[in-house]
Amino acid sequence: MNNENKSIHEFDFQLICEYFSSLERQGPGSPEITIKALGFIPNLTEKSRIADIGCGTGGQTMILAQNTPGNITGVDLFPDFIEKFNSNVVKLNLQKRVKGLSEDMKHLSFQNETLDLIWSEGAIYNIGFERGLTDWRKFLKTGGYIAVSEVSWFTNERPNEINNFWMEHYPEIDTISNKIAQMQKAGYIPEASFILPESCWTEYFYAPQKKAQEEFLKKYAGNQTAENYIAFERYEMSMYEKYKAFYGYVFYIGKKRE
Ligand code: SAH
Repeated sequence: MNNENKSIHEFDFQLICEYFSSLERQGPGSPEITIKALGFIPNLTEKSRIADIGCGTGGQTMILAQNTPGNITGVDLFPDFIEKFNSNVVKLNLQKRVKGLSEDMKHLSFQNETLDLIWSEGAIYNIGFERGLTDWRKFLKTGGYIAVSEVSWFTNERPNEINNFWMEHYPEIDTISNKIAQMQKAGYIPEASFILPESCWTEYFYAPQKKAQEEFLKKYAGNQTAENYIAFERYEMSMYEKYKAFYGYVFYIGKKRE
């Protein structure tokens, strides 16, 4: 099949996976922030069961595993990410309590009321914040926790250019106070929320991509679809640089109530 004629939306996912699997992170975040969010979750023991949904190649999962006891299942739609995830698990000698599974977050196979903690960094947008919080709740034990990071507005008003960008790409973006209200409505006690610092985007997410983009363009020189894809990634980065006062990632931590 000829990729050159495909639009960006039909872009061969294999190529996107290849691009992102060369990176340690597939979304904004950092080890310090994972540890900070984990600090809001009390009472984890060796018996705790944790799911990391949309785990990618497992950058944050390995940090979780190194900073908490318990068993962790990482879930991601893309088998290539899970393959890399599982080889990272072996490299870090965590295979006794960490494993990766390829599953769709819209059809998860966990048993009801079996999880102590659901983690999801930069991934819940794939199902939608409200739907994810609502659908995944049944997998948690009462009193169990959910910790997710999600793109959010910092202000009630913003320039049209950035508003239009997000309305096109993720209209569920909302203010922090509205996201917290949604969490409460979905059956959780909102325990904490905090904004990820800029370095989670610039240093940990975008800087490594700059090098990956150059290599990707070299490898797929002349492939219009690959070039369009990288142009879009670069555009997204420029939007962040220009409008970072108006939006960013926020960690939301909730506790399942009765
Ligand atoms: N948590 C990682 C990855 C975030 S990127 C990090 O912070 O680095 C979003 C991830 O969601 C990607 O790895 C992507 O493959 C995964 N994803 C997208 N749609 C999905 C779905 N329907 N089910 C499960 N995972 C999905």
